[in-house]
Amino acid sequence: MQRLEANQTEAFRSLDKALRGEILAREEIEELFRVPSKSEAFYAIQYASRKISESVTGGKAEIHGQIGIDIGPCPKNCQFCSFAACNKVFPEPSVLPTTEIISRCLDLEEAGANAIYLMTTANFSFARFIEIAQKVRNKLQKESVLVANIGDFSYEQALELKRVGVNGVYHALRLGEGNTTAINPKRRLESFAAAKEAGLILGNCVEPVGPEHTVEELVEKTLIAREANPVFSGAMRRITIPSTPLSQYGMLSEGKMAHILAVVRLAMGHHILGNCTHEPNVHGAVAGANLLWAEVGSNPRDVEGETHRGISVERCREIYWEADWEVLSGPSQFFQSVRV
Ligand code: SF4
Repeated sequence: MQRLEANQTEAFRSLDKALRGEILAREEIEELFRVPSKSEAFYAIQYASRKISESVTGGKAEIHGQIGIDIGPCPKNCQFCSFAACNKVFPEPSVLPTTEIISRCLDLEEAGANAIYLMTTANFSFARFIEIAQKVRNKLQKESVLVANIGDFSYEQALELKRVGVNGVYHALRLGEGNTTAINPKRRLESFAAAKEAGLILGNCVEPVGPEHTVEELVEKTLIAREANPVFSGAMRRITIPSTPLSQYGMLSEGKMAHILAVVRLAMGHHILGNCTHEPNVHGAVAGANLLWAEVGSNPRDVEGETHRGISVERCREIYWEADWEVLSGPSQFFQSVRV
């Protein structure tokens, strides 16, 4: 058996370049995505990704905890989401009581989550969100990191988030945006800009990836993610919502996702510390994911109001243990890595 597989010299050159901290060009990223599954370069990419993720964080991985605070039919109709009105999973809106939201945030904080996220559907009242975020902020430890995962927002709204003590936002220009969603991609980019201008820290990810996506689209979304200059990026797979149009494509395996998140890691450069994978799994963490998600409340991948797919902080710790990662204690270092 040959040691080196043919035609992979360029891929090895690109991953060496990424290991040195140089920024990869579009063509190099594309080539890394095209490396065949189970080839030598396929594993070398994951090795390089793990090396970078460890070296930029001092070997400490993170767990971020998210509370989905509402459910209901969302007019943005992202076909991959169980809240999309067109998917008819949740015909009636409902919101968790604020006391319950606060208590779940405190539970996540107590369990050791390095950041706490409040997630809503896109049309959730911004004024109500601000009220809830302010109450949560007042109960969390001063140094705890609070992040909003909400619909698109203006500069003024970004300032308002900042005013009530929100440290950052999770926001992504998703695969298929404007095509399998009713959101103009331009609107997503405007939210990135608003967050930055208002001094909110951004996290994003290449998502939600399914077998239907081409390498060209993965490259395009990876470059957009990098240009937004987040503190973490990564890759999340699309989870099939049964009986919806996208279910015909099935899902990607965790093995294939490990390759994708590793290429995203190499593409981001060393100044972007975090690399997430979702849903959490050992293979992804072995391949360089240093951010896993614990979830409670509602969830766009579930068909029941209280998530069954989301896992606990403790379960994320077990996954990291299996993948031989140490877990950071205290507030997220990703969110301390930039000055805003
Ligand atoms: S992903 Fe967000 S914007 Fe899209 S349908 Fe679901 S809740 Fe609405």
